[in-house]
Amino acid sequence: MRTLKLGSRGPDVMEIQALLKKIGYNPGPIDGILGRQTRQAVINFQRNNELVPDGIIGPQTYRVLEPLLMGYDTYYIQPGDTLWEIARKYYTTVQRIVTANPGINPYQLRIGQKIIVPYGIDVVDTNVEYTYEIMERDIRGLKVRYPFIEVGVAGQSVLGKNLYYIKLGEGPNQVFYNGAHHALEWITVSLLMKFTENFSKAYAEGRSIRGYDVESIWNQSTIYILPMVNPDGVNLVLKGLDPSNPYYDELLRWNDTGLPFSQVWQANIRGVDINHNYNALWQTYKELAEELGFDEPGPYRYPGPYPESEPETRAVVSFTRNHNFRLVLAYHSQGQVIYWNFQNLAPPEARRIGEMFAAVSGYVLAEPFGTASYSGYKDWFIQEYRRPGYTIEVGRGRNPLPISQFDMIYNNNEELLLLAAVV
Ligand SMILES: [Zn+2]
Repeated sequence: MRTLKLGSRGPDVMEIQALLKKIGYNPGPIDGILGRQTRQAVINFQRNNELVPDGIIGPQTYRVLEPLLMGYDTYYIQPGDTLWEIARKYYTTVQRIVTANPGINPYQLRIGQKIIVPYGIDVVDTNVEYTYEIMERDIRGLKVRYPFIEVGVAGQSVLGKNLYYIKLGEGPNQVFYNGAHHALEWITVSLLMKFTENFSKAYAEGRSIRGYDVESIWNQSTIYILPMVNPDGVNLVLKGLDPSNPYYDELLRWNDTGLPFSQVWQANIRGVDINHNYNALWQTYKELAEELGFDEPGPYRYPGPYPESEPETRAVVSFTRNHNFRLVLAYHSQGQVIYWNFQNLAPPEARRIGEMFAAVSGYVLAEPFGTASYSGYKDWFIQEYRRPGYTIEVGRGRNPLPISQFDMIYNNNEELLLLAAVV
């Protein structure tokens, strides 16, 4: 954690702003710039927490902010404590505490007993640029608050970042949702993470969402979510090119667009477009791409030296092979379209399911054409398994979509994400 002060910029500033706003301070616009208003909010927070009110977020202040960012605190039972009293102090509920501490007996607390106290605020903030580090912390926070979810690692990126997956449910009907094959399309990570949080919360509370009984989905199906397939690319887009990056010189050369990485980079950190790196008419795509000038590493559309050349692709492929997915969704952003077929290999029910997805999302159902129709994840899945696989393009306008579109995107896709688990 670097020290943040007046003039600091970046996604880490943004998440602090979003947090301060969530807990009742006024940092001004959530723009990732630590300006005077944000500094004043930090000072007010420091005053209320017996910290030196200097407006600088160093180790001391961060230590107090961190549990709030994680969404929970660790608490040791004091003489006379009750869960009701603790819940009141933390602006949370007894139910949330019981969920995070399976087996706890509210009537038999032991002095010195260590418990987890989830705060009354949500973990996943959808007002911030969603970096790998924010996702990683949120996954940890969700896992602690909702111990019934399972978290694992499907592989590593080129730069060694974990390709985390989350498992929701215990049922035999397995489905797989993934996001951010493309770096600019990180808003799909926020979408899948927010869905994970809302689904877990509803399960803990025995609630339904949009008329779908979450507990019965949990028992009937297992939803695997790999929110960020391309973490190196996402961080390049959101945090810029770090001089310590082992591909520093190459990346500057590969990005020959004259535009910053934050505006154009879709590939992984070796300039390979992961969603053209799957072994599904890869050679056909490669020849087309060469004609169009995508014959070497670059911001987008370069399919790599051979199919599955990239560790991210290989991880998703072996994750898929190690499960028995009845259906997959690959989330992308741009166009409000659902693509469903590949070389007419999709089963007959795929169109009908696609039509249902279109109906609940308001998106258009389409068959891909041109270069979009080769060597993507859903193409490979349909080719290998002859089961329903979809590329879902969320949002409108030019990538990267502004986070201000999040609420609309979530609203369009929540029912689709529930339906895909039971259809
Ligand atoms: Zn995409």
